[in-house]
Amino acid sequence: MSAILPLGDPRLRRKSAAIDPQESLLEQYLQDLATALHSFKAAHGWGRAVALPQLGVASRAIVFDLGSGPFFALNPVIEWLSPETFEVWDDCMCEPNIAVRVLRARSLTLSFVDETMRKRRLERVAAELSELIQHEVDHLDGIVFTDRMIPEWGVISRRMREVAIPVSSAVEINALQHAADRNYKRH
Ligand SMILES: [Zn+2]
Repeated sequence: MSAILPLGDPRLRRKSAAIDPQESLLEQYLQDLATALHSFKAAHGWGRAVALPQLGVASRAIVFDLGSGPFFALNPVIEWLSPETFEVWDDCMCEPNIAVRVLRARSLTLSFVDETMRKRRLERVAAELSELIQHEVDHLDGIVFTDRMIPEWGVISRRMREVAIPVSSAVEINALQHAADRNYKRH
């Protein structure tokens, strides 16, 4: 089984090539993707998709499992991105301990072929799937989640997503605290 590459591995930076339907290793690749997703989820309790570049193969394939079993998207193309955006915590199996805040399009339409080379389309998907697809298609283009980070939030431990505050708030709180300390020392 192929291991998921850690964030910083140069192979995550390659722009992947289109999958050739005649690719002799295709079946093996898809099996590896499904196994990687299943293993990660078993070990960490989360994870909805893996892109083939995360396994060190620069080809455009993604496995998704949204709860009803794995399905594959080969040569996916984002046909439309909604002008509406939203902020969300993003995480990645390449570095499962951290999260960053990103801005994503709220909806999108994706075309792709499935593992039987049938053309498929996901029309105007919901926000949760939209952000996931944008994350995975980014992997195919050599872009990782930290590249999309909103700097005001910094990098946080993934398990702190519910309590983290923006860096700007922290600076304000610290400034107030310093002022309070100064007053305390004065009197
Ligand atoms: Zn990722």
